[in-house]
Amino acid sequence: MSHHDDVHWMGEAITLAHRCPLTDHAYAVGAIIVGSDGTELARGYSRDTDPHVHAEESALAKLPADHPDLATATLYSTLEPCSQRRSRPRTCTQLILDTGISRVVYAWREPPLLADCHGHEQLAEAGVTVIELTELADQARRPNRHLFDNP
Ligand SMILES: [Zn+2]
Repeated sequence: MSHHDDVHWMGEAITLAHRCPLTDHAYAVGAIIVGSDGTELARGYSRDTDPHVHAEESALAKLPADHPDLATATLYSTLEPCSQRRSRPRTCTQLILDTGISRVVYAWREPPLLADCHGHEQLAEAGVTVIELTELADQARRPNRHLFDNP
């Protein structure tokens, strides 16, 4: 995936994030899984299939765990994958590692607002290529502005 592809897919994920039902205790996030040939495999957004589901979790749940393209796929998430979670036993970081996905691209590093997130570090330590698209961070944050006193 080129930087151009990464920016394209992150733009799609940001569009998804704007569809999330809003809540004041979780972020609005979009996620898309794309195969190494540029084919979209699955997508999801926060709370799209149930009131607690995270975007990455939702996208991953739409694929069989042994999907042959997962190991070479890229997971795009508008927000850094979570590494602490109250609503489910496994974090998105753990779910991603369990699939064997080798590349993760996100735009907005999780602020220390709802949890102390180390998703980027944990994925990188496990050998996943992690890319932070900082130039799209503001766009990825925008559907979450209701969470902040000074948007
Ligand atoms: Zn998560």
